[in-house]
Amino acid sequence: MQWEAVIGLEVHAQLQTATKIFSSQSAAFGAEPNHHVNEVCAGMPGVLPVLNGHAVELAVMAGLALGCEVHPWSQFARKNYFYPDLPKGYQISQYKHPICTGGHVAFRVGDEEMRCELTRIHMEEDAGKNIHRGRHSLVDLNRAGVPLIEIVSEPQLSTAEQAAAYLKELRNVLRYIGVCDGNMEQGSFRCDANVSVRPVGQKTLGTRAEIKNLNSFRFVQRAIDYEIARQIDLIEDGHEVVQETRLFNVDSGRTFSMRSKEDAHDYRYFPDPDLPPLIIEAQRIEQMRQDLPELPADKRARYQKDLGLSLYDAEVLTQSRAVAEFFEAALAIGGSVKGVANWTMNEVLREAQHPDDNLGDLKFDAAQLGALVKMVDDGEVTGKIAKKIFAAMVKDGGDPVAIADAQGLRPLRDEGKLRAFIQEALDANPGQAQALRSGKMALLGFFMGQVMKKTRGKADPKMTQRLIQEMVKE
Ligand code: ADP
Ligand code: MG
Repeated sequence: MQWEAVIGLEVHAQLQTATKIFSSQSAAFGAEPNHHVNEVCAGMPGVLPVLNGHAVELAVMAGLALGCEVHPWSQFARKNYFYPDLPKGYQISQYKHPICTGGHVAFRVGDEEMRCELTRIHMEEDAGKNIHRGRHSLVDLNRAGVPLIEIVSEPQLSTAEQAAAYLKELRNVLRYIGVCDGNMEQGSFRCDANVSVRPVGQKTLGTRAEIKNLNSFRFVQRAIDYEIARQIDLIEDGHEVVQETRLFNVDSGRTFSMRSKEDAHDYRYFPDPDLPPLIIEAQRIEQMRQDLPELPADKRARYQKDLGLSLYDAEVLTQSRAVAEFFEAALAIGGSVKGVANWTMNEVLREAQHPDDNLGDLKFDAAQLGALVKMVDDGEVTGKIAKKIFAAMVKDGGDPVAIADAQGLRPLRDEGKLRAFIQEALDANPGQAQALRSGKMALLGFFMGQVMKKTRGKADPKMTQRLIQEMVKE
């Protein structure tokens, strides 16, 4: 029997707002436990949620960037369950009427262009966090009420590799438009993977297991691969896959059952009576569509079409917004596309510690890299010398022209200075000077040699030659 896997992903992405989704409390990561908590996050009786307008804007931007239909009318609903990290006893989410439906993520696996449709994007609040220490359990509500979007895919992926490529592209898009910082270690971007298997050719879906809270691309891939193999083994041994929620153990590389369908919650969703329907004017949505920054796919296409870069180069240079912005700022200095692209890909990316986040840990900026490439393009320094200058920029930072001058790496091109050296040589050798004046061109080499000696080889040869010829005619 040939088996095929079916995978659908649910991604929770934290919206990059300063404050929480229903209150003015800070949404920043990393505070002392329970320092970002007010009456609303703590679920005190009598308080009312007030929707964060910026969170709505970011959710709309995500929907627009992913080609969703953004609904002018949506509704918040209560998802009821009891858990210590959820003091209200319900999570405010969206259910029947999410803010976005449809859309897709386009990505590439090897040479194959693929896409996966989205079911929906809805807004919701995050829950707090339980911390278990020995016999004690502690609750930290800092995260309670942090704004999230949940992006739900159709069950259309069939390998772990596709799932990872989908997630990378999705994360990249959200980061480009500033909707989510994509920090997986801090939980700003996390994934639940739904996995089932079926005989190749069968139309209906098999029974799925949902693997919760995967927070790295590598774990997603390992968990899915393990789960596919586990389900195939089960069926081939004559057992059935049960619908359940599972967790991935990073150390053993296995998934294990967390709760089965029998313990599944009945969430008793109903519209939240504390919040009116969310209404966004269609005109506003259109305006936001026009204001959207350039998306990575559009950038890739533009780099290939307008700049003549290969698909591979375009992909490397658009791998994050930080890299693309660095490349574009360096190119603006006026060096060649090929030169700036190669220096960015080979040298800069080798030095950058976090090409994903920002290149701010480098001691030089994009304009300085651009100036260095321009020096090479203009023939002022050789590639080999440029590498030397670059090494100094990496180490101590600074302007390539200044470094080149300080280290004597740039040819002397100051016309006044060169003329003075030439004059000295002419004055010191009156016989030869006279012979040159009367047309004995072989002496040009002699005077070139004199000037080179005086400048310790730094004089620009072409310019020196031209100046000598000019000066003997004067
Ligand atoms: P729930 O909200 O209970 O997790 P949904 O029906 O909303 O259930 O599905 C959640 C995710 O599971 C979606 O991404 C969907 O594509 C995926 N999914 C649903 N059925 C299957 C299946 N049989 N195999 C793999 N993925 C599935
Ligand atoms: Mg689910």
